[in-house]
Amino acid sequence: MNNNNIISIVIPVYNEQDNLPELFRRLFPVMENLNRQYEIILVNDGSRDSSLPLMLQEQKNNPNGRNLRVIDFNGNFGQHTAILAGFKASKGNHIITLDADLQNPPEEIPKLLSLLENGHDVVGTVRKNRKDSFFRRYASKLVNKLMNKVTGFTLHDYGCMLRGYSRGIVDIINECGEVSTFIPALAQKFAVNPVEIEVSHSQREKGESKYSLFRLIRLQFDLMTAFSLFPLQMITILGALIFGTGIILALFGIFGRAVDFVLAGIVVTCTGITSEYTGRIYQEVRKRPRYIIRKIYEEDK
Ligand code: UDP
Ligand code: MG
Repeated sequence: MNNNNIISIVIPVYNEQDNLPELFRRLFPVMENLNRQYEIILVNDGSRDSSLPLMLQEQKNNPNGRNLRVIDFNGNFGQHTAILAGFKASKGNHIITLDADLQNPPEEIPKLLSLLENGHDVVGTVRKNRKDSFFRRYASKLVNKLMNKVTGFTLHDYGCMLRGYSRGIVDIINECGEVSTFIPALAQKFAVNPVEIEVSHSQREKGESKYSLFRLIRLQFDLMTAFSLFPLQMITILGALIFGTGIILALFGIFGRAVDFVLAGIVVTCTGITSEYTGRIYQEVRKRPRYIIRKIYEEDK
């Protein structure tokens, strides 16, 4: 084994006590069978259950526990922020991210790795027979379509977080100081030789999805505003249309109350979108740390 061939696995963890034992049971054999040096970086994103003690116990008791590193946040900063912290800590020349709830089978890791080793700098993924609710699947379809329009990329599944990245891509991402970001899109932006493959997907066995409808909407805003000025540009076009409509209505002498409502609705929506960008600029200029690490646990065995 040589030192410049380390594989880093980065896993964000938020209240996953019921999934961690099974995750370790399946992940370690996969990693051992690769016959390469590896590290598993678990980022505890402010879990309030027994996730942290379970990780530390595994680090201590598993014969390969020295390959496990635990980054403990002092609060909940979100899945993508947790992955960013994992990226910063990673030492590998190939980096693979994975969810902790086993919706992404660890057994798919070798497939991603071989593509990275063949020179692809980003391995994007599409969930085959995605096992999520009808609502989630339908909403994702719309989001994927919209995002491709807005970004000019052609990705088929922005939400699948079992993905592979080269050291070079992770280094660039580490240099981006953005407060909120959406990792698959960010990586795609910097990729020179990306590839997209299908990976299998499972139902979440234990615990609940950490994304409420509101959090999902917030995540979509992250994705959209971080990667384009499209919504802002739409406002200008809408403004012109409203102006034109006003002129035509005035010409015909129609001044219904309905028009008031429609126009008011549009104005409020536009103000909302503009505020979204303004708010994000405010967040950036404050330059607050993106996350706060309480402690990093490493085992010297
Ligand atoms: N997660 C996290 N912080 C959060 C929300 C989620 O670290 O604020 C982790 C979670 O523990 C899991 C992964 O991100 O490992 C994906 O979360 P989840 O399964 O809830 O998302 P879904 O599959 O429903 O999109
Ligand atoms: Mg999940």
